Amino acid sequence: VSRCLLSEIFYRECAGCNSFVDMGSYLCDSCLKTLPYVKNSCPSCGYPLEVETAYCMNCFNENKYDFLYIPFWYTGVIKKLLKEIKFRYGVRGIYFLKELISTLNYDFSGYDVVVSVPSHMIRKLRRFRHPADIISDVLADKNKIPKKGILVRHKYTKYQWQLKKKSRKINVKNAIGIKSDVSKLNILLVDDILTTGNTINECARVLKKGGASNVDCFVLSKGVFI
Ligand SMILES: [Zn+2]
Ligand SMILES: [Zn+2]
Repeated sequence: VSRCLLSEIFYRECAGCNSFVDMGSYLCDSCLKTLPYVKNSCPSCGYPLEVETAYCMNCFNENKYDFLYIPFWYTGVIKKLLKEIKFRYGVRGIYFLKELISTLNYDFSGYDVVVSVPSHMIRKLRRFRHPADIISDVLADKNKIPKKGILVRHKYTKYQWQLKKKSRKINVKNAIGIKSDVSKLNILLVDDILTTGNTINECARVLKKGGASNVDCFVLSKGVFI
């Protein structure tokens, strides 16, 4: 066990407010109460909403997925947690994320397969774990459905942040491919953050083109300002 890993395990500060916590705990009791749960979502498409309405702007987009499940806003402790897992390999954070997902009340047992959105970061940062992979592992386990690495991200994809906003949509098109048969499958697609929705739409488009009968998405959090 590396020194870095040990200090991670014995770290005893709350990730939210730096107060003292029990060994291995990620958040103190008061920070646990600040988890930014989505309280309202569109009944037709599942899109998180600030206030309760019967339909939403997202319903008017030509979405390729069928329904969205998004439990949190990407802010506060959730934002800290995902950043920590992506950039610092936080062992405590990974453990907490797994626990958090397993406490959520969704029944996904009717899906045929869980598929995670392939990461573009992992290519360069091999030792870091993509949160979508962790989330999809837990969902597959909990609902007793198989998880398969069906989607691949082609190598020539330019990084999204290197591109101007207009070319982002074009960039993501043809960036995703499938490597096995998905015909007639009821698929749960998994990612960690929803921003523009371009990536999950492209994944869903490719899966539908491959014959999938239904593609719903579980995304852990929704960006607040987009
Ligand atoms: Zn705290
Ligand atoms: Zn909607």
